Amino acid sequence: MSSEPQWPRPWYSVLWAPWRMSYITSVASSGRELCFLCEAPRVGDDRKALIVFRGRTVFAILNKYPYNVGHLMIAPYRHVPSLEDLSDEELMEALRLLKASIEALREVYRPQGFNVGANIGDAAGAGVPGHVHIHVVPRWNGDSNYITVVGGTKVISQSLEETYDLLRPALERAARKHGLTGQ
Ligand SMILES: [Zn+2]
Repeated sequence: MSSEPQWPRPWYSVLWAPWRMSYITSVASSGRELCFLCEAPRVGDDRKALIVFRGRTVFAILNKYPYNVGHLMIAPYRHVPSLEDLSDEELMEALRLLKASIEALREVYRPQGFNVGANIGDAAGAGVPGHVHIHVVPRWNGDSNYITVVGGTKVISQSLEETYDLLRPALERAARKHGLTGQ
């Protein structure tokens, strides 16, 4: 039986449920579940890992299974499960990176709106319940209607590599403007 949600789904499911898919699958040889948000910064190739910005305590990474083009996530380097676990420095940097991300996404994609949010805990549909992250999803009027859906996954016309190459320089500019220093 497939655990993947069926399409079409109600708007709240459409917005929040795709983020739980597919991430919880990699398991180390030790049997320990790998956390991709811990692993990505250690890959050594930010383009391959889809990391679009490295701050001092938090980073931004493209969602490999995006809801929309430009869907990114902001996460601390530390493996902590919830927002209240973040230090003041992490919180402040995450919010400044959120601001820079919205600005960069506006510049590159001219979206008409954004969904910004975090799924905290299994019950809320967190894809990586142990490692808190904030989703930033650009939205366009009618985008949930016209984008082709195949097997429960929306087909997004731009490749992740193209998204990366457009977004990274824009985000770096916006981050610098808002006083974020890269790592
Ligand atoms: Zn982690």
